[in-house]
Amino acid sequence: MSSLRFFLVSTQQPSIRRLSTLTQVVEKRLNPELESIRQAGTWKNERVISTSQSAHIKVERSPNKLLNFCANNYLGLANNSEIIAASKNALDEYGSGLSSVRFICGTQTIHKQLEQRIAKFHQREDAILYISCFDANAGIFETLLKEQDYIISDELNHASIIDGIRLCKAKRLRYKHKDMSDLEAKLQESLKGKDENAIRLIATDGVFSMDGTIAPLPDIKRLADKYKALVFVDECHATGFFGPTGRGTEEHFGMTGQIDIINSTLGKALGGAAGGYTTGPKALIDLLRQRSRPYLFSNTLPPAIVGSAMKAIDLIESDTSLPGRVLENAKYFREEMQALGFKILGDAHPICPVMLGDARLASQFADEMLKRDIYVIGFSFPVVPKDRARIRVQVSAAHSKADLKRCIDAFAQVGRQLKNINMSNERKTWPEFVGKDANEVESQLKAEGFNVEIKEDGSPCTRDYRLDRVRLFVDDNNKIVRAPTNG
Ligand code: PLP
Repeated sequence: MSSLRFFLVSTQQPSIRRLSTLTQVVEKRLNPELESIRQAGTWKNERVISTSQSAHIKVERSPNKLLNFCANNYLGLANNSEIIAASKNALDEYGSGLSSVRFICGTQTIHKQLEQRIAKFHQREDAILYISCFDANAGIFETLLKEQDYIISDELNHASIIDGIRLCKAKRLRYKHKDMSDLEAKLQESLKGKDENAIRLIATDGVFSMDGTIAPLPDIKRLADKYKALVFVDECHATGFFGPTGRGTEEHFGMTGQIDIINSTLGKALGGAAGGYTTGPKALIDLLRQRSRPYLFSNTLPPAIVGSAMKAIDLIESDTSLPGRVLENAKYFREEMQALGFKILGDAHPICPVMLGDARLASQFADEMLKRDIYVIGFSFPVVPKDRARIRVQVSAAHSKADLKRCIDAFAQVGRQLKNINMSNERKTWPEFVGKDANEVESQLKAEGFNVEIKEDGSPCTRDYRLDRVRLFVDDNNKIVRAPTNG
């Protein structure tokens, strides 16, 4: 009896202690941190999509279909029927997964085929697959660079590049975003090292995901040649659609094949599932297979994803109009929004950050857009710098002109309604209002978000409606007699 009592006490005590420690951590550390995120207004709510990813989606608790402007579904392939069929075929033929990492017993014929397709697509010697581009970025720097080497990185590089760099022992230098004189200064600083064989690696996003800006690759390459540096480019927001045939930022600048190492994703334009890769010289890819930790210690990419990525490359190679479509849509959206007076960062790219400045305004703006069935997301600190909050609109080849127009009109309405948007460039005339009843027009304009102020000008036959900077002239019968132009 006494030994039984002893047994009970000795097994219960540790678990009681463990629970109370956890409770303490939750109360003292986790809950205050969660509360501080809420207080800062930067809490990220995930909306739950109840359809496949597409330009038109349904979201839980939203009765209507939403027009989606916040996926990286640049080519609209995420629910493409041929890609789904290819994915199912691969699933049937090769099974759901490998239950293994690549080097133990996880490499199938389709993995080798996809690696060759990717290398050929980028005109490189070889390629290696990862479960994500985050992993590809986590594996590359530690494998390639040692203590004596230098990594020189754009300050706005993606978090996965920053984390990958943290894992390596090379000396780290950071240059100001796209600032070539600062990059040159950092390259000069790297010359102070004593090791003549030190590797200097410049790392940049091809297209920067928060700003839609494009790395000046020709200038970077010129400096790299001058200082005998290598260039690494993350092409997640370029592969498949940027450049005339979708080969990415290199192709956009007419310099295909000149960048030393490319990392990219299969989880955006190339079918939208998941997966990443490095492509470059064969010796580098061989070394990654031997040493890269996310490759060595993480499971093989599932066959269904390999099948869908392979089909996405087929589609891009066989329909060269596909990349053109998304870039044309982006151009239209940017031009129309700029004509309204919105400030859009970046250029010529479907990432269109609509700059609003204030974090709460960005979040309020996104909520108002949602009321109009347009799904966009406000980004604020710490995702982007303080006072640089924005709504990031991502245009897709799957958007029709009517979709884009609806989105632009909603931006105009919300911009007027919230009044703190610089829409001073707005040039709007309404010849169609001539002869119409002024009260009807007034309520229509109010519904569109104009701040209508009615002013009598003393003349018996003219009333002066000031609509921001626009005047409506009406006769005694309350009919509009002159179309408004900017006042
Ligand atoms: N690099 C950039 C520039 C990205 O935008 C992303 C994803 O958001 C990644 C890397 C990570 O890609 P993946 O989703 O394949 O891990």
